[in-house]
Amino acid sequence: MKKIAMMNCLKSNRVCTGAACLNAFNARTVGFERYRDEELELVALMWCNGCDAEADEDSGMIEKLERLQSIGTQVLHIGKCTKNKAGEECPIISKAADILERQGIQIVRGTH
Ligand code: SF4
Repeated sequence: MKKIAMMNCLKSNRVCTGAACLNAFNARTVGFERYRDEELELVALMWCNGCDAEADEDSGMIEKLERLQSIGTQVLHIGKCTKNKAGEECPIISKAADILERQGIQIVRGTH
């Protein structure tokens, strides 16, 4: 069974329930269509710690990234809320993704 986590933008948390991400996960659509024939376990649903919390400096972010590793996360999906209107990914998220990728966690851009 593949262990999946999702990471989203903290600012989006003001208006987002995570329902669209979870619906795509449960229905195996959009970003999760690739797993149509696989059993999945959603092991974490997390947000960044905000725009002043660098992934390699903020103690909470460091702890959360270590937690993803310790629970055996195999793939981290990054939500589209982490992109600006021009479609560029937030640098805080990019750095977190780079750290996890170097540790062997596969990064997939997109949830729903
Ligand atoms: S750091 Fe990026 S992803 Fe996190 S709240 Fe700020 S804009 Fe959103």
